[in-house]
Amino acid sequence: MNIDETTTDGTDPSDNDQGTQWKAVSGLLRAEIGEAAYQSWLKPMTLRAISDGQVKISVPTRFMRDWIVAHYVDRLCQLWAKENPDIKSVDVFIQSDREAPQTVSKKSAGSEAASASGSSNGVTAGKTRIDISGPLDQRFTFENFIVGKPNEFAYAAARRVAEASTAQFNPLFLYGGVGLGKTHLMHAIAWHIQKSTPDRSVIYLSAEKFMYRFIRALREKNTVDFKDQFRSVDVLMIDDVQFISGKDSTQEEFFHTFNSLVDQGRQIVISSDKSPSDLEGMEERLISRLNCGLVADIHATTYELRLGILQSKAEHLGVKIPPKVLEFLAHKITANVRELEGGLNRVVAHAQLVGREISLEATQDVLHDLLRANDRRVTIEEIQKRVAAHFNIRTSDMHSARRARSVARPRQVAMYLAKQLTARSLPEIGRKFGGRDHTTVMHAVKKVDELRELDTSFAEDVELLRRMLEG
Ligand code: ADP
Ligand code: MG
Repeated sequence: MNIDETTTDGTDPSDNDQGTQWKAVSGLLRAEIGEAAYQSWLKPMTLRAISDGQVKISVPTRFMRDWIVAHYVDRLCQLWAKENPDIKSVDVFIQSDREAPQTVSKKSAGSEAASASGSSNGVTAGKTRIDISGPLDQRFTFENFIVGKPNEFAYAAARRVAEASTAQFNPLFLYGGVGLGKTHLMHAIAWHIQKSTPDRSVIYLSAEKFMYRFIRALREKNTVDFKDQFRSVDVLMIDDVQFISGKDSTQEEFFHTFNSLVDQGRQIVISSDKSPSDLEGMEERLISRLNCGLVADIHATTYELRLGILQSKAEHLGVKIPPKVLEFLAHKITANVRELEGGLNRVVAHAQLVGREISLEATQDVLHDLLRANDRRVTIEEIQKRVAAHFNIRTSDMHSARRARSVARPRQVAMYLAKQLTARSLPEIGRKFGGRDHTTVMHAVKKVDELRELDTSFAEDVELLRRMLEG
């Protein structure tokens, strides 16, 4: 974060309160996005001028400009408007260090401007829904989504919903851990429909926004309008629905909206970080309705998928990255795709800033904090959660006394994997599975080994789980 003291229009950003505003705004954003992102993106920005309600900021590279425009400019603008209500937009342009600051003016050669207007809500789906649908990320299209084993089912289901003119599986319930592409797929559905059949109306909203709007409607006593808005839509997508579990009146409203849309044959798409059955604090009747459609699980990434994603992102960024570096990242950053992307971006940004080629050494250096966080061993709790999700049972069934095959078998698989993947002893593992005896664990290990021999699809399941857990 810098302040240019010699802007062309005669105003000195540091001598009035412009510099103070910039400090305040970047301080707030720094707190929101964290230190690493601050160092990579905010720090290299220079405030050049504020005039006619527009903040002008320069950055050293095109890559940074694009990244900041895609990720931070809207937020910058919002924060700035709070500091100074006159601010309407933020303009980010490229200026290399070699250029003298005097050449900077809005239309000067050598600087490319891209701006985001503060009042705009971003891109919105469905022509008539501008007031209600959330913004869509330009990059979240089907074309940009890399398909691999862990997500091929969810991808195929999402595509089907996007391409069909009538409701398919209702609802399509996408679930998976954070950063695995749920939001990406939902936006992709919206983009696709918007392009191919613009007359269909689509609403994409986070569950949080849904709740917020609902509460506001209650307060302003226009719940009828609220209901109408939702109930006349062709495709309704609610992201992160786990957010409304436990929030009774919102759930109730959601349930009614949901039912009336389903009854009219409208498509609903929902995402959550838990399976319908694992949504605690959700009403049974809502859970059973959610379970009625198609539940598509996005599994943890595999090495192959991570490498594919990295290759595609590197290509998009237009930078040359040695295959060794990509392989290293795919191997090391296993938590989710968001972290993987973040890692790649940091490496690229760093290389561009210091003007050096990307190397394995530099990568290790730049990402040491991230790599440390990913360098931990899998826990029994994670194994239980993952296996339960895979077999669509509750995580609590890992500890329960239930002996039905539908829960006993997954429990045995989890015990088997706990033995394979952790350094825990049999008695320790037994204790973590509802205080079972070590002989039970031994039996489970033997049983799973036997079944793997007999049943290839079972063996593949176990292998898949093992690979997912190992990362
Ligand atoms: P979620 O909503 O599940 O938490 P997101 O959809 O926000 O995750 O994905 C996190 C980031 O990872 C996004 O930038 C998204 O574009 C990217 N991403 C996730 N899965 C894929 C994939 N299969 N191919 C390309 N990018 C992906
Ligand atoms: Mg999401």
